[in-house]
Amino acid sequence: MKTMFENEVLPDVVMPACPILKILKGQKAIVTGASSGIGKAIAIALGHAGADVVVNYVAGEEAALAVVEEIQRCGSRAYAHKADVSREDEVRDLFERMAGQLGAVDILVNNAGLQQDAPFDEMTLQQWNKVIAVNLTGQFLCAREAVRAFKRQGVRKNVSCAAGKIICISSVHEVIPWAGHVNYAASKGGVMLMMKSIAQEVAPYRIRVNSLAPGAIRTPINMAAWGTPEAYRELLKLIPYKRIGEPEEIGRAAVWLASDDSDYVHGVTLFVDGGMTLYPGFETGG
Ligand code: NAD
Repeated sequence: MKTMFENEVLPDVVMPACPILKILKGQKAIVTGASSGIGKAIAIALGHAGADVVVNYVAGEEAALAVVEEIQRCGSRAYAHKADVSREDEVRDLFERMAGQLGAVDILVNNAGLQQDAPFDEMTLQQWNKVIAVNLTGQFLCAREAVRAFKRQGVRKNVSCAAGKIICISSVHEVIPWAGHVNYAASKGGVMLMMKSIAQEVAPYRIRVNSLAPGAIRTPINMAAWGTPEAYRELLKLIPYKRIGEPEEIGRAAVWLASDDSDYVHGVTLFVDGGMTLYPGFETGG
């Protein structure tokens, strides 16, 4: 289907420089994989909304420090911490330092993730294990440390009516099968039921657990899908709303999910995907 937007590369969505509304004031957040793409946008959005932020990264200290600087510029505290989320000892250190340095943990955004693609019969065990280790086990390790911290500290009434919030960054591929990316789709499908099961278990402690499932977002992970006009045109066939998403749009959704404005939202996946999960192949009647 032709639309008026088909050949248009839309400009970046611009965030206001330093928003005045600080709905996360006093809260302490940790964002994994926050030196690029969606994690970077989320860390900055949380910081702009008043949270103090730990910017986790695994490589590229300079990029992580630039995120820290942007958060500090708007008046929140921030520091960068190098840790591989798939390593139990490094995740423990990440949370221990945060408790010592910021005094609390209120928000975890489980964002770190990667792809290692291959046709299924050529996929190595190493490719399978790596993607599961970062995308699924990494989220488990961080969520476990966060829940331990939330239970220890309880509700901090002066900052939030919940004892803690976990936001898992999933993907439309928690429900859309993805040939050639079996390890990635399996990891995100795993995140979906891990998130819901944790949510069921920890709700009585006033700990909220939800997922954000992005569709196609303009970040390094999927540059092949939007980096040329031909690829972008192909991509639009999968998106009823006929444009790619921007990382800042996930950042704004994360701020809402982390805030008390969404206090009754628990155990759900919020798709931010321009309708990608609406089976666009059926838009002409199937
Ligand atoms: P990205 O590559 O820019 O970000 C991923 C980040 O995770 C990088 O900063 C990377 O260094 C970090 N990371 C990788 N392994 C790590 C490890 N072991 N420990 C700590 N950090 C690690 O890509 P992105 O698009 O911003 O992806 C962020 C999240 O969003 C991922 O979970 C991805 O699956 C998800 N997602 C992205 C899209 C999209 O269209 N871009 C769509 C759906 C879901």
